Amino acid sequence: MKIRVLGAYGAEGLAQRPSAFLVNDTILIDGGTVGGALASSEQIVIEHALISHSHLDHIAGLAFLTETLALCEAPKPLTISSLEPVVKALRTAVFNDTLWPDFSLLPTPRNPIVKYRTLLEETESPVGDLWVTPVAVNHTVPCSGFVVHDETSGIVYSGDTGPTDALWKAAGRLKTLRAVILECAFPNRMQPLAEVAKHMTPNLIRRELDKLPGDVPVLIYHVKPQFHDEIGEELGEIAGHRISFLEQDRSYAF
Ligand SMILES: [Zn+2]
Ligand SMILES: [Zn+2]
Repeated sequence: MKIRVLGAYGAEGLAQRPSAFLVNDTILIDGGTVGGALASSEQIVIEHALISHSHLDHIAGLAFLTETLALCEAPKPLTISSLEPVVKALRTAVFNDTLWPDFSLLPTPRNPIVKYRTLLEETESPVGDLWVTPVAVNHTVPCSGFVVHDETSGIVYSGDTGPTDALWKAAGRLKTLRAVILECAFPNRMQPLAEVAKHMTPNLIRRELDKLPGDVPVLIYHVKPQFHDEIGEELGEIAGHRISFLEQDRSYAF
């Protein structure tokens, strides 16, 4: 499984793009940025988007991608897959003809550029050449992490979450787990805000590590750009080489 990091951050900064990951060239996991990291020729081969939740730092690039797809010479539909409340939020709050066009009806209702697919919680479904299990996590809006695998390897993606148990239990059942991609938004001094906004800090991650399977590598994404260095120092104090930042623009093979 190949994962290209299109955006590694929990917001936007100079050359720091919001969260988005491209798996095997055709499947997005979140879409905070797409066109900021991919040429048009790379965007138009994307077939699926797994969306953790409806916050802008996970879908802003998805909106622009739908327009790019709609305007390309031979448009192919993009299937957006998520839990039911997330699909509902995307339909009613984003692709609603007010914030952005309803591409589930365009260019024609019979052949739309966006198709929605509702995934069942904690149920494995095929998405492209992957198997995907969404697991609800602990955020301010409905949000899921994803357990993702192919024939040979798998990863767990946390989505946005504060401390959680269900995702780590699901991770423990995946025998081919190669990495955990885990969010961290704020430094330790901002834990009160992290608890309200339901995000991780390095201290909260320290407690989560005990729930994670074995010594699987933990790759951190979603730091708020202005706290990158501070969070890096705090993470360095807790877990040695097991934990590291996921690097934007790098491709990982699992
Ligand atoms: Zn976020
Ligand atoms: Zn969020």
